[in-house]
Amino acid sequence: MPHIVTAAELPVAELLIRAEQWRTRLQANPAPPVQPRAALIALLFYEPSTRTRAAFEQACVLLGCHPLVITAEASSIVKGESLQDTVRTLCAQGVRGIVIRHPQAGAPVAAVQVADAPILNAGDGAHEHPTQALLDLYTLWRRYGMPDPTTRWLAGRKVAIVGDIRHSRVARSNLTLLTQAGAEVWLCAPPTLLPDAPLPHATHTHDTDAAIRDADVVMALRLQTERMAQGLLPSLNAYRRDYQINAERLRLAKPDCVVMHPGPIQRGVEIDDAVADGAQSLILEQVRNGVSVRVAALEYALGEW
Ligand code: ASP
Repeated sequence: MPHIVTAAELPVAELLIRAEQWRTRLQANPAPPVQPRAALIALLFYEPSTRTRAAFEQACVLLGCHPLVITAEASSIVKGESLQDTVRTLCAQGVRGIVIRHPQAGAPVAAVQVADAPILNAGDGAHEHPTQALLDLYTLWRRYGMPDPTTRWLAGRKVAIVGDIRHSRVARSNLTLLTQAGAEVWLCAPPTLLPDAPLPHATHTHDTDAAIRDADVVMALRLQTERMAQGLLPSLNAYRRDYQINAERLRLAKPDCVVMHPGPIQRGVEIDDAVADGAQSLILEQVRNGVSVRVAALEYALGEW
C-alpha cells in the first residue's frame, strides 16, 4: 500500500507526467465522473488549510470518491481521542484513504502504523509537505518546457528559498525534490530562523542579496508565527527590510527569474504586492497546479496506476 509521508518516497517522474495528463483532461472537461463510486476518502485536518484542503477535496470528487472532511475542532479530537484511535475508527468505517494535516512532525508515520488504508501527508509540523513540493516542482517543470523528468533537468538552475526556513515543511520537502532534479538550492533566513543543523545539499545564508543574486527561482515563505517560540524575531520592520522579496531585490536575480510562494501570503511582510501580483509571479499557477498534482497523488496512493 503506497503511503505518501515524505517527498523522498514519491515516484516523481511518473507523478509529473500523470499530473500533466490530468491537467490536459481537466482543461478539456472539468466535470467529475457521472458514475461516482462508493469510496470515502477522509481528510483529517488538525491545522487550518485553504489550498491543500480544497485541492484534495477536488481530487476526491474528480476521482469519483466522496471526501469526508474532519476538522480537529468539530470531532472527537476535542474529547481527547488520539490520532491513532481516530485513524483506526475511520478505517473501521471503510475509508479508502486518509489525508492528514497535523501540527506535530511525525503524525503521519504514527497513522501509518495503525492504518489499513493509504496515508497522505498534507503537512506535519515543520517536517514535510510532500504534495506541496511536488506541485512546486511540477510548476517549474512546465515553466521549463517539460524536459525528461528522469534526468537532472534543473541542473544549472539556482533556487533561493527565503523566509522562515526553521519552521518550514515546504522548504524541507522542496529541498529534497529540487536537489534530486539537480538544482542548486540556497536557504536564506535571519540566523534565528535557520535550522539548528544545516539541511543537506543546500547553501545556508542570512544574506538575502547573496541568495537572490543570479537566481532562476525565488521562493518566499511565510513567517510561521504559530510555530515560533517567543523572541525568535525581534523586529518585523527589520525582517521586512532585510528579507522581504520586493522589486528592487528581485533585480539582483536573473531577468527571467520566477517568484513562487506556497501561500498563504502575508502581503507587505515576506513579499510585496508588486512582486506577488507581478509578471514574474507563479503563485496562482502553483495553486492551479495543486489540483492536478493532488489527483495524481491520490490515484497513486489508491494503487490505481
Ligand atoms: N501552506 C503551507 C503549509 O501548510 C505554507 C504555510 O502555511 O506558510 O506549510
